[in-house]
Amino acid sequence: MDVTRKGFLGLAAGSLAAGAMAGRSVTATAATAKSADAVRPAHRTLIKGADIITMDPAHGEILGGDVLLDGGKIVAVGKGLTADGAEIIDARGMILMPGMIDSHRHVWEGMDNGVVAKISKTVNYYNEYKLRTMVSYTPEDAWLAQYASAIQAIDSGVTSLIDYCHIFHTAELAEQAARGLIDSGIAGTFCYQVSHSPTYKPGDTVKWDDANAMRNAPADEQHWQTVRLLQERVFTGKDGLVRFGLCASPGFSDRPMTEIRDELAKMRTFEPHIIAQHHRRSHVQRPPEVFNQFSQLGEWGLLGPDYHVSHGTGFIDEELDMCRDTGTMICATTMGEHSYPDPSVHGRARQRGVAVGIGVDGALAFTHDYFQHVRGAFYNLFRTDIGKEIASAYQGEDVLDFVTRLGARSIREDGVTGTISAGKRADMLLLKTDRINFPITGLLADRVVNYSNQPDIDTVWIAGVVRKRAGRMVGVDMAALKAKINEASTRINRDGATIRFV
Ligand SMILES: [Zn+2]
Repeated sequence: MDVTRKGFLGLAAGSLAAGAMAGRSVTATAATAKSADAVRPAHRTLIKGADIITMDPAHGEILGGDVLLDGGKIVAVGKGLTADGAEIIDARGMILMPGMIDSHRHVWEGMDNGVVAKISKTVNYYNEYKLRTMVSYTPEDAWLAQYASAIQAIDSGVTSLIDYCHIFHTAELAEQAARGLIDSGIAGTFCYQVSHSPTYKPGDTVKWDDANAMRNAPADEQHWQTVRLLQERVFTGKDGLVRFGLCASPGFSDRPMTEIRDELAKMRTFEPHIIAQHHRRSHVQRPPEVFNQFSQLGEWGLLGPDYHVSHGTGFIDEELDMCRDTGTMICATTMGEHSYPDPSVHGRARQRGVAVGIGVDGALAFTHDYFQHVRGAFYNLFRTDIGKEIASAYQGEDVLDFVTRLGARSIREDGVTGTISAGKRADMLLLKTDRINFPITGLLADRVVNYSNQPDIDTVWIAGVVRKRAGRMVGVDMAALKAKINEASTRINRDGATIRFV
């Protein structure tokens, strides 16, 4: 099925069509989000008088500065810039910062916000939820889940992410999942997991152990065919905002190292931008011929600049150095890792030169206000003595680093996004500062890290396209979208509940 689901779902007035339209001058604070004409990729836009957190060491923070965008890129940063014929954005009294980066999110889960509250439920509860719902999605649902959840991400200031897509196992589901993400306008990498082979459906009775084995089943020919289809039909070039990636099959533990070597080698024949995999320190002792500890991947020469570790909690220094030396990236999902037995590694990883970011992870269990995750990354450091030491030397900019400059490295987009610098893609946020409890003094980064919240986001640009303006998503009928999500989520969970595990 190669048509976009947007028309089918009655959401066609959104970002896709709007992306090619022309617009006009506005004042950011006063603009009305009159949909389509505000979403065009501005040919030249001059943002005037903003207080800018560039995250570029060459510029630092600029009070009352200007940024010129041309097409999808930043072309000049400074003071007193002029540009004939450019759209002028009056940003006086507002803070301009790079768009934020989430390097590990299961985007599809945004369909079911709140269904699994991790703080009160067990891992098995989550797995059972997945076993029930993963066979209850239609391709339309897959598109909707990805589209809606990515819209939620953009609304909260996330402009690039790694989507760890670990539920849509068939070719049709995977294709629509990828299209939903792309249609949202967000940037990043869609990582299709080469796993899951469930044969049961709603209404069936299935043995719990069999269902779990199907969930953790390694890649088979069906998955490789889906990879080929995704590359032939969706990811046809290298210049799109969303790149193609893969997730390895789950449950490396106990599998022969030779099998893991062969699976990763096969994955690399498709040249994915990212190969993502969940890893945590294991406290179980297994024989050396089977996978036990992350360091074995390094010893077998399986790491590299395409390899991306989700979590890495409890990694020892040697493993972090292995990541740095091979270009392997890490994402600490610091809010979600609060309940893990080992501490998050983002502070130590950054200190040792690893490309490390942070992320939301479970979109159905944690707040989508990304500023809270940014603060969480700072507070999380205080779980360990070495983390306390690291945190005591931090300024706000060090915390923002995880979601901007360093965050870009953590999704293999170094040099593309993450700072406000000439030549970078125009991924930026404009923040309101006028509420009474937003501080008026101090470094801009300190103020944002400590006090900014999602409702402060006035404008979001991704590749120069305005996706949010005057605090509202542009070209998205939020009420209609929410109604679709509610209908689909209710139906999927109702159908999933008819499966009997024995
Ligand atoms: Zn995860």
